Amino acid sequence: MKSLWVTRSLIFAGISTILMTTGCASNAVSSDGKLDVVTSFYPMYEFTKQVAGEHANVIALIPAGSEPHDWEPSAKDMKKVKEADVFIYNGIVEGWAEQALQSAANTKRVVVEASKGIELIQGLHEEEEEAEEDGHSHDLDPHVWLSPLLAQHEVEAIAQGLITVDPAHKDDYRNNADLYITKLKALDETFRDTLAKVKHKEFVTQHAAFGYLAKEYGLTQVPIAGLSPEEEPAPDKMADIIQFAKEKQVKTIFFETLVDPKVATTIAKEINAHTDVLNPLEGLTAEDKKKNLDYISVMTNNLQALKNALDE
Ligand SMILES: [Zn+2]
Repeated sequence: MKSLWVTRSLIFAGISTILMTTGCASNAVSSDGKLDVVTSFYPMYEFTKQVAGEHANVIALIPAGSEPHDWEPSAKDMKKVKEADVFIYNGIVEGWAEQALQSAANTKRVVVEASKGIELIQGLHEEEEEAEEDGHSHDLDPHVWLSPLLAQHEVEAIAQGLITVDPAHKDDYRNNADLYITKLKALDETFRDTLAKVKHKEFVTQHAAFGYLAKEYGLTQVPIAGLSPEEEPAPDKMADIIQFAKEKQVKTIFFETLVDPKVATTIAKEINAHTDVLNPLEGLTAEDKKKNLDYISVMTNNLQALKNALDE
């Protein structure tokens, strides 16, 4: 598994290096004078919008209400990937990206793998998860965007990509990125201060999306499913989680808005706990959009939910 990852990351590195050096800045902008930037899922879209400001048309391939772990691009999506001036993705969670970039080849397109350079942690690993039908390995945890600290790295990578393809607006990209990174730093400090004071340190989540967040702020995540929410937990694992939750007096079982909360609800009933939302920001729902929620407001809600649960 590890050697497969090394090979894949070398391929990624090769692709992005080649595209970065052949990306032709002068021809990059489309007829309206703006860059066409295609991003994969919500956090990549939001971070890119924040940095690009008025200089780009930014779209997210994965629509509101869709869960990115099992998403696949359509022919229409492939056309967007091909015609993009810049393609921005997190890495790993978009198992389709490597293949899509190869078949929708475009030598002028700049590719940004925003998590590149971050030291990824190994996911909690179950034997049966290795034999996934789609052949993708989810060994490494992709959920770096859920750490307000690592999110800053992703914003910086996105800024570098936009500056490479459109150096004429370098100062704007730099200023926009700095402004947003300042907000993320404030968010990180609020998380650090708040979570340093909570009574309990263990929280139960629907899938293993909060590993980086937990590591950063000294918490322990106990996920019901693995690194991808589609992985149904084995009965003995359910029993372990129930046992753990009873021992640690866990009173809240977290679920997600884009995934069926059935298992979380079952466990909550079993231990006489209640459920609450902890949003892994893998996509906003239509309702989230109506409420004008964004990365920072959802993360602020997540912090409040964690504080409530950990202080019970
Ligand atoms: Zn996930």
